[in-house]
Amino acid sequence: MTETIKIFDTTLRDGEQCPGASLNHDEKLKIAAQLEKLGVDIIEAGFPIASPDDFRAVNEIAKLVKKSTVCGLARAIEKDIQTAFEAVKPAKKKRIHLFLATSDMHLKYKLKMSRAEALVRIKEMVSFAKSLTADIEFSPEDASRSDPKFLYQALEIAIRSGAQTLNIPDTVGYSTPTEFGNFIKNIRKNVRGIKDVVISVHCHDDLGLAVANSLAAVENGARQVECTVNGIGERAGNTSLEEVVMALKTRQDFFKLKTNVKPKEIFRTSRLVSSLTGFVVPPNKAIVGSNAFAHESGIHQHGILAKRETYEIMKAEDVGVERNRLVLGKHSGRAALIARMNELGFKLTQNELDKTFERFKLLADKKKEIFDEDLEALVVNEISEATAEWKVESVEVTAGTGKKPRAEIALRNSAGKIFKQKSGGTGPVDAAYSAVNKIVGEKVKLLEFRMDAVSEGIDAQATVAVKIETAQGRIYSGKGSHTDIVVASVKSYLNALNKIIAGKERLKVVL
Ligand SMILES: [Zn+2]
Repeated sequence: MTETIKIFDTTLRDGEQCPGASLNHDEKLKIAAQLEKLGVDIIEAGFPIASPDDFRAVNEIAKLVKKSTVCGLARAIEKDIQTAFEAVKPAKKKRIHLFLATSDMHLKYKLKMSRAEALVRIKEMVSFAKSLTADIEFSPEDASRSDPKFLYQALEIAIRSGAQTLNIPDTVGYSTPTEFGNFIKNIRKNVRGIKDVVISVHCHDDLGLAVANSLAAVENGARQVECTVNGIGERAGNTSLEEVVMALKTRQDFFKLKTNVKPKEIFRTSRLVSSLTGFVVPPNKAIVGSNAFAHESGIHQHGILAKRETYEIMKAEDVGVERNRLVLGKHSGRAALIARMNELGFKLTQNELDKTFERFKLLADKKKEIFDEDLEALVVNEISEATAEWKVESVEVTAGTGKKPRAEIALRNSAGKIFKQKSGGTGPVDAAYSAVNKIVGEKVKLLEFRMDAVSEGIDAQATVAVKIETAQGRIYSGKGSHTDIVVASVKSYLNALNKIIAGKERLKVVL
């Protein structure tokens, strides 16, 4: 029988906590629903102790998701573990994932704890977690830089205390494939009781080796891989889910293993995560980049026309890329919109559907053909604006050669009150942003500003992605789309500002 590699998705925990990726509550729920459809075995929904909002999101995901296990992260502290348990409690299948560093560097400088104290803590906290629920995962943080002998001891204690999954993180992305593969092999050889538990790996991509390290671990007996959609995450990111899944599938002849992921949902999931986080997928990204299946050079095309396998090891359709796209227009009704939204991976509530349909009709008046990208932009606007403190009421600008750029902006707050401000600037966007600043009153620095056409055609919507930094050095991203580029610019800026207002202090961990 072919063994199954469990796919543990941490897009909503490790991915979401990286600078600028922050998601609101509704956005997290949308991604969780799609991850379940994708077929991941475990969804790490968040770090519940981080803030009341984080707790609520994990809790709602636990109520929503039925097929995948819902997991909450905790430090090896009773309060964290209890909170993680309360958050995942409603889930049909639930897991607590707790961690404690085992490298001398982390023990000495971060935790100020001796090795002996660490072992006691692991025993006590894994046992405590086990008293709450059956499915417990333990991670020795910075495992790849820990003394192997001490690590084996720590793992044995975790197993004896009830952990069923032992996750070995390469926290700083330092390992290389042969080294990491041997590391896993030695853990299998030297840890008593290891045969009865699942070995998991969690690799970071600082040297571009996260996927290679994960696969080397799998070759040496790891049976769970932690990963994120599009590889998003701290610094250079995590192991990319789509790459691991497609490597195992495409090279089944070599690995002789399978996963429960449905490859046809990969592209849709990638698009959803990219549009909601505002993290654009590079065109040359394996599996989900826009060029991943494009064959342009003449000789390749000739080969492909004659026989596909000459240059294509996978088909675009296998990962859900559609060749013939359905285009909606002015006369498309609600049913067509709902059907298309479902196909794009958006499960909308009645209220969201009503609002999106309204926006769709308005857009169809301005633009003849409505592409999938337009629909995504519409629904992303809807989801991110639904609970926002500030919304755009009106934007007026004057600009052009020989004119002083001026903007007049009206914003509506959540209480329904409208605020107006005028301002000048070096251009229409600068003028508009400075008027917004006068109303909202947050001190921020604009780090990045990017504008793209949502789809083809001169009547296309523009999508603007911004990154801003607060006085405290926190980074927030925002996105917004509209057929008018200045309105799109204001929406994206406001989206980022709204995240600052919503994002109270949040505890952060690196694992
Ligand atoms: Zn991590």
